[in-house]
Formats: sequence, structure tokens, C-alpha cells
Amino acid sequence: MEIKVERTKTPKTKPVDQSKLGFGNYYTDHMFVMNYDEGQGWHDARIVPYADIALDPAAMVLHYGQEVFEGLKAYRCADGSVRLFRPDKNMARLNVSNERLCIPAIDEAFAVEAIKKLVEVDQDWIPTAPDTSLYIRPFIFATDAHVGVHPAHHYLFIIILSPVGAYYPEGLNPVKIYVENSYVRAVRGGMGFTKTGGNYACSLKAQDEAAKAGYTQVLWLDGVERKYVEEVGTMNVFFVFDGEIVTPALQGSILGGITRMSCVELLKSWGLNVSERRVSIEEIAKAYDEGKLLEAFGSGTAAVISPIGELKWGDKIMTINGGKIGALSQKLYDNLTGIQWGKIEGPEGWSVKAF
Ligand SMILES: *Cc1c(COP(=O)(O)O)cnc(C)c1O
Repeated sequence: MEIKVERTKTPKTKPVDQSKLGFGNYYTDHMFVMNYDEGQGWHDARIVPYADIALDPAAMVLHYGQEVFEGLKAYRCADGSVRLFRPDKNMARLNVSNERLCIPAIDEAFAVEAIKKLVEVDQDWIPTAPDTSLYIRPFIFATDAHVGVHPAHHYLFIIILSPVGAYYPEGLNPVKIYVENSYVRAVRGGMGFTKTGGNYACSLKAQDEAAKAGYTQVLWLDGVERKYVEEVGTMNVFFVFDGEIVTPALQGSILGGITRMSCVELLKSWGLNVSERRVSIEEIAKAYDEGKLLEAFGSGTAAVISPIGELKWGDKIMTINGGKIGALSQKLYDNLTGIQWGKIEGPEGWSVKAF
């Protein structure tokens, strides 16, 4: 499919101070749009000026939340090239989400091409300051004007871009995490393994209460027994025990992060003992009491690696590695960001040129 490009005649002024970009505050001049109509399939791929979209008030996404999304970044590298990090994995995951939400599959290779083309069109928006990047948000939603619960027949696939700053402007400071005992995010058989808006709507209340108690994010436990660890906020989670690095196994309620996958692959390549298995909060507390919980961190595209300095589980406060970033967390952060910004040669296919 050909992608038509219509350039804006009224470019916006770009944010001048790259140290104040924050996350998700600015959007570029263009967006990618493609329609799906039953019988016709995906069609009319185009890059057009960034603008509001008109929706019928009965549009199904607004009522029943049939929606999926992705998140990745484009990086401006020292050699002047612009690179993406494993974009094929994001588009494969988008189709996993599509399948669960009864949204028609997209052509993954074509979607990667659409991302590359859009990034090229808006390349002047890719910030240049250290640790800044261009966040890419592809999303698909149901547009049929129909108040009735069934899979829609019409969809829009849109990609927007946002120049973003370093997630932690002061550097890699460990965060305080609240172990969530009453609310749950997802259950097996549900849609926890997909990136769909409903999962995030569901998480807001716990997040809000944790924030009021002075915690950055929550650590989710499994939705059935409230015993096994799942994820931290919108990141996957790793625990470094003495002799074993553990991340919860993907069993249906956890989002399979691309950063998580990359961490597991890097750790294995360094000859370390990594397990993807069930891990209970009791096991973590026991390891902590025995001095065997050395580090803990979250992993995700936005922050890359987010060290956990404190875990609060009921009345028990666990201060990890003296509240400081651990050596392994730092090493993973340095390697992943090194590969993403083209400073370190990564495994084949991890860092790909956008154009
Ligand atoms: C996106 C996301 C992650 C991290 O995935 P990455 O591909 O590493 O960015 C983890 N958990 C949830 C719930 C997410 O939405």
C-alpha cells in the first residue's frame, strides 16, 4: 500500500527548551491515518497535518472501549542517524492486542514502514539534547456509530509523535513502590497481556491512592490469590536475588514488555541466571529478611530501567540496596540506552535506522 503525504502549510513552533519537554506534552506537525471498513480491509494510508478528529457521539470506542495502542521511541544518534528500537516487536504485540480485542489485524511490516515514514516527515521534531527522544504512539479504535455490544465494523489506525524529555530529569533515582493488596489490574483470561485503554482506566484508583500515600507506583499482585507479583505500574518488574534474577512469567495477565524481553536476553548473554517464573511477595519479603534481595527494578520504554528503592507491603517497609540504584540496574540501563542511542552495538535487529 502506498502512503500519501500531505504536508502542513502551518507548521507549529517547536518547544525551544528541551530540558522542559516532559512526557506527552507536545505533538508534531503530522499524523499517520488509515481506515478499516468491513469488506474493504485497511485502506487509505496517509500522512496528514496533525488535527482534531471528528467522531460520532455514538462511536463504539467511547462506550465499550474497543481500543489498542503501542508505545516506542525514535532516537537521534551521535552519528546523525535516527533509529528505532525493535519496532517489529511492537507491531507484533499490536496484533496480539488486536486479536484479543476483536480488532482486524494490521500488516506488521507495513505498520513499521508507516512509523518510519512519519518519523522522517517530522524529523525536525526529534529533540537533540541528551536522553531526549521522539515518543511514537500508534493506536486503533472502533468508530462505528452504534450503541450495542459487538465487535465494530469500522476502525481508525492513527500514529502520533511526541518529543519527550528524559523520564527522570535528575537521573536514575530509585522510586518508592506500594504493594497493592486490595485492587487488582488483570486476571488470567482477561486482557492484562494487551495494551488496551481499559487496563489503564482500571489502574488509576490504586495509583491515585498510592500517590496520596507518597508512593510513585503500585506493585500489582495476581488477581486471584493476591500472592504472586505481576507488574509495577506500567512497567514489568525484576528482582535480583543472591544467585538468581527473577521476573514474573508471562501467563496471561502480564504485559509482555519489549524492554523486559531485552533485559532477559541481555542478562542471559552476560551469563547470568535469569528465571521467568512465579514469584510471591512472601518470597520477596523472606529474601529481604535474609539479606538476599539485592536489587529490584521496573522496565519499560518510557523510563527504560526504574530502580526500586523501597517496597511497602502492609506494615512492612523494605529498603532495597540502601535506597540506591544497584550495579546491575545501572548496567542494564547503560547498555539498553547505549544500544538505543547507537553508542553500543546491540544484537542484530535491535537498533534499526528509521530512514
Ligand atoms: C507498555 C507496558 C509495559 C512495558 O512494555 P515495553 O514494551 O517494555 O515498553 C509493561 N507493562 C504495562 C502494563 C505496559 O502497558
